[in-house]
Amino acid sequence: MGYKNVCLNCKRVENLGTDHENFRTGKCPECSHEMTFVNHKFRPPKKNDKKGWELVKFLISNGFNFQHVSDENGMYVTYPQNIEEPRNS
Ligand SMILES: [Zn+2]
Repeated sequence: MGYKNVCLNCKRVENLGTDHENFRTGKCPECSHEMTFVNHKFRPPKKNDKKGWELVKFLISNGFNFQHVSDENGMYVTYPQNIEEPRNS
């Protein structure tokens, strides 16, 4: 449980925990690709799950960073807005 950075290039997943003050964003330490910040709803596919990663790439490239996902109680998950530009939906 917690927030994550994912690198879509080399499929690296970095767990960030839940400390909202200390999220680190930026480049992948492995390949310098820009990492994508996702919340705890994100379930990384297995590294060899090509279809799973294609879906993740598709969703993220369409602006879906797993933040507009309701939790078990039907409440929208609150999400820091300072990583990317807030989106009107
Ligand atoms: Zn990478």
